Amino acid sequence: GDALFCTCRAGFEPELAGELSERAALAGLAGYARTQRNSGFVEFFCEQADELSRSLPFDTLIFARQKLLRLAELRGFDPRDRITPIVDALAALPPALYGELWVEHPDSDAAKPLAGLARSFGNALRPALRKAGVLARADDARKPRLHVVFLDGDHLVLARSDAQDDSPWPQGIPRLRMHAEAPSRSALKLEEALLTLLREDERARLLRDGMRGADLGAAPGGWTWVLVRNGLHVTAIDNGPLRQHLLDSGRVDHLRADGFQWQPRTALDWMVCDMVEQPRRVAERMATWMREGWCRHTVFNLKLPMKKRWEETRLCLDLFRAQAGPLAVLRARQLYHDREEITVFASARR
Ligand code: SAM
Repeated sequence: GDALFCTCRAGFEPELAGELSERAALAGLAGYARTQRNSGFVEFFCEQADELSRSLPFDTLIFARQKLLRLAELRGFDPRDRITPIVDALAALPPALYGELWVEHPDSDAAKPLAGLARSFGNALRPALRKAGVLARADDARKPRLHVVFLDGDHLVLARSDAQDDSPWPQGIPRLRMHAEAPSRSALKLEEALLTLLREDERARLLRDGMRGADLGAAPGGWTWVLVRNGLHVTAIDNGPLRQHLLDSGRVDHLRADGFQWQPRTALDWMVCDMVEQPRRVAERMATWMREGWCRHTVFNLKLPMKKRWEETRLCLDLFRAQAGPLAVLRARQLYHDREEITVFASARR
C-alpha cells in the first residue's frame, strides 16, 4: 500500500488528518495527510504505509470510522466497463487472496448518489475476481478484505483491511435500529458505544444482571433505558423529567441533583454521562469518579467546541488519563451517532 485510507464523519477531516499526522510522527514514520473538507475521508501517504497501519491499530483511532490500506487509485476509466481496470490493477500488485469484497463510498453528500452503484457493482465484480483468483471461493472473514471505494462514477480506490484491525461494518457504520420504547434517540449512542468500544468478552463480563450504575444528565432517559435493558439498577441524575415507563420498571431511582456535585454512597459498577458541558470540566469530573473509586467502568461524552477539536480531544483525554488513577482500558471514538462530540470508555485497573 501507499497510504492509509480512513473514513470519518463529513466535516471532521481536519480532526482525522491531525490525529493521523500526530500518530505517524509519534511512530517515527514520515508522511502527509491529503483531504478535502466534507469529503468524509482522509488519505495519509507514507512510504511505509503497511508499517504505519500496524502502528496505528484501528481501535486506538478516534476520528476514523474505518481504516484501510490503499492499494491503487483508478480514475478516468470507461464507466461501461469498470471490472477490467480493477482486475488489471489487482494483477499488477503483489499476489494476494482476499476473503471478502466490500463495495463502498464515503459518507458524504457528494458521494451519496453512488450508493446504488456501490450496492449493485459488488455482484458483478465478485465472479470476475474469483475467476482471476484474487477472491476466495467462499467468504472468509479471517483473510484480508478487499474494498472498492467509489469516489465518483469513474473514480475509485482499491484498498485492503485486515481482520481484527478494522471496523466490522460496511462504511464503519453499525446498523442500529431505534427501539419503539427508547425514550430518546440518544439511546442509540450508548448502544453503539457498548457495541464498538467494548469487545464481546468485555460486554459479557462487565455488563451483568443486578449491577448498579449512575447516569449523569439522564433526561429523558435514553441511556438509563439502555443500562436497564442490560440488567442494571440505575440512579438517574437530572433536573429534567424521565419517561414514566422507566420509573415504572422498578430499576430506576430519579434524583433531581447537580451531576457535577452528586456522588454515590457506595461504589458503583458503572457511571455514564451525557451532560452538555465544557469537555474539560466533564473530563475532570469523570477522572474524579475513577480516581475515587466511585465507579469501575464509565462511558461518557465529550462535546467538542467548534474550533481546534483535535487539540481539545487530545487535551481532554490527556487530562483524564493523568487524573483518573490506574486504568485497564481507555478507548475513545467519534461514533456514527455522535455529532459534534466523541465518546469515551474507561475501566479502572483494580
Ligand atoms: N443521555 C440522555 C438520553 O439518552 O436521553 C440525554 C441527555 S441530554 C443530551 C443532557 C442532559 O444533561 C439534559 O437533560 C440536562 O438537563 C442534563 N444536565 C446538564 N447539566 C447538568 C447538571 N449539571 N446536572 C445534572 N444534569 C445536567
